[in-house]
Order: sequence, then C-alpha cells, then structure tokens
Amino acid sequence: MRVEEAIKRESIREGILRSLRNLSSAVERNVQEHPYLLDYAREVREARLGVAENYSQWMSRARDVLESRGVEVHFARNARRAREIAGEIVGSGKVVVKAKSMVSEEIHLREHLERLGNEVWETDLGELIVQLANEKPMHMVIPALHYSEGEVAEILKKIGVTGKSAEELAEGVRRFMREKFLKADVGISGCNAFSAESGRIFLIENEGNIRLSTTLPKTYIALVSIDKILPNDELCLKSVFVQSAFFGTFPPAYINVNERIEGQEMHVILIDNGRSEARFREQLSCVKCGRCQLECPVFQLAGNIWGGDVYGGPMGMVWSAITAQIPENVFLSTLCGKCMEVCPMEIDMPSMLREMKRSIVQGEDKL
Ligand code: SF4
Repeated sequence: MRVEEAIKRESIREGILRSLRNLSSAVERNVQEHPYLLDYAREVREARLGVAENYSQWMSRARDVLESRGVEVHFARNARRAREIAGEIVGSGKVVVKAKSMVSEEIHLREHLERLGNEVWETDLGELIVQLANEKPMHMVIPALHYSEGEVAEILKKIGVTGKSAEELAEGVRRFMREKFLKADVGISGCNAFSAESGRIFLIENEGNIRLSTTLPKTYIALVSIDKILPNDELCLKSVFVQSAFFGTFPPAYINVNERIEGQEMHVILIDNGRSEARFREQLSCVKCGRCQLECPVFQLAGNIWGGDVYGGPMGMVWSAITAQIPENVFLSTLCGKCMEVCPMEIDMPSMLREMKRSIVQGEDKL
C-alpha cells in the first residue's frame, strides 16, 4: 500500500486516533502517579548509549554468560544471515509459534520459515489478524488497530473462528491457538531487554501468549537485536517499565524473564543489522514504546505505511535508515517536533529527519 492509498483509508486514521485517545491520558497518569519512571528513562537511555559505544565487547559478555547457562549463541551481522541461522535451527516440516517481534519483521522471518516448509503462527491476537490479512503491522504495539470488529470477524473466518462479539472471537482464537501451542516444535520470541549480567531475556505482554510460546516447545529461539543489551537485570526491568508506561499500560500485565528451562534447547541470535555502524547513535536508546508514532500528525494520517518496509512513523524513519535504507517518503515529515516532545528517551528525531532529507538530496542512503 502506498501512503496516498493509506491516507484515503479512513479506518487507519480512526484506529490511530481511538488508540491515542485511550492511551495518552493513561501515559500522563502513569507519569504523575509514578514520577520515578522519568528517572528510570534517563538511566536506561544512558545505559543503552553506553553499551552502544562498544557493542562487540557487550556481545562477547552476552555470549559468555549465555554459554555458561547451556544456551547456543549465534551472531548475525545482517538480516539475511539472521534468517539463515533461524532457518537452519528450525529446519522444515515443523510447527512454529511466534511471539510478536518487530525484529522478526525486520528480518522477514515468518515468510522465510514458511518458504522452508514450516507452519508458522503469530500468537499475539493483533499480529495473527495482520498475518491472516497479509498486511504489515499498523503500529509497533497495536498491529491491528485499523480493523473494525466486523472486519476482524471476517478475517478470522479464515481459520474457522466465528463469534457474535469480540469476547466470542477472542475465545475462539484462544482455543485455536492452544492447539498450536501444544503441537509446536519451535517457539520464537523477540526481546524487550537483554541482561548481559545474567543472560536473561525480558519480555512484556498482556495476553500470556509469549509465556506459552517460549516455554512449551522443545526448542526456543530468542531474537535479540543488539540495541536491547543492557548491563544488568535491574536496568532491564526499568527499561520494560518505561516501555510499558509510555505506551500507556503500567504495570504491564505480564513480565517474562526467560532463561533456558531444563530439557529445552535454547538459542539466542544476536542481531546487528546496521546498529553497530549507525551514524545517529541516539536512536539506539529507543525502547520502542510506539508513543511518537501515535502522536505524529503524519502517522495519524497514513499509519505505519508512512515509513520503510517494516518500521514507520518518526522512529520508524530512523530505524529504517539504520536497518535498511532511508525511506523516500521521509519528505512528508513536517518536522513539527511532537515526536521528541513525547519520547521518554528524549531522542531528537526532528534533527535526524532533517538530516535524512539532506542525505537523500545529496545521494546518500544510509544513516
Ligand atoms: S523514539 Fe521514543 S517515543 Fe518513539 S518508540 Fe522510541 S522510545 Fe518510544
């Protein structure tokens, strides 16, 4: 879909504004009731940027601690290599259950595993709807925000789920998914924060699907983009608190702290894909709360279609530039500054957007 088409699709704008109405007062309330979250955000920003100064050292540290706990560790310099590694671990003819993960979108993992002959299921309800509709997630945290209840009911018929209300549909999906969880050979998740101290993977969720995806299958693969590495567990916890509070839900319904379970084969794929060489280091402190997306006036019109293949909105422009290339539609940015104003990490995206425009004019395509 092109930006021009997205702007004409009213449901995108309605879905984003509905989410914004519901979540922005919740963010304000979270910060008022828990002012220490602002200190956490500053600490996490400093720590992430500190790690970014020497990713290779932190990756070695991560490898040592993970291997000491019986986890197989892999390094992927780019998206292609990350896909290949995951494909080699999974093989073919398997049932794979996936937690929602933007880095898996970034490396186009689901499509790759399906091409290898696997049955791959997104287990987050919104992400499953997007998978069945064959679209891209419309927001980082709320991937299916642009669908009405009627449209969701129509889409879910593809897997035989029917119902007269949202509750009945959710119950139908739960039953469908339980069967997949029990059959699954491999579970895959992303990572919201990774502790180099303990090798633990921190993941937040509100459906309980991540817990099942990462603990029931015999093989578990965690995709860890290297910007998620933090020095210790305490900072990881602070990071997921900031992420959930600035999205609008605090405390998160579930915080998973994953490590290898006895009898499970666990793999961690550390993914670089442009991060260690990113010109604009500040973006590497992003906790991917999605706040700047909902607040951006251009995103409110075109959703995640305004951006690159995977990431959209102000943060998505910069992440696309780091992991792929600068999207040409960056010129639609108004440089209004709202993204920086609402960002818990105080990332100066307007300056980067301006710099991207300059880079395109001068014929460069990477940041
Ligand atoms: S840039 Fe800031 S507001 Fe946007 S997703 Fe990242 S942390 Fe959240």
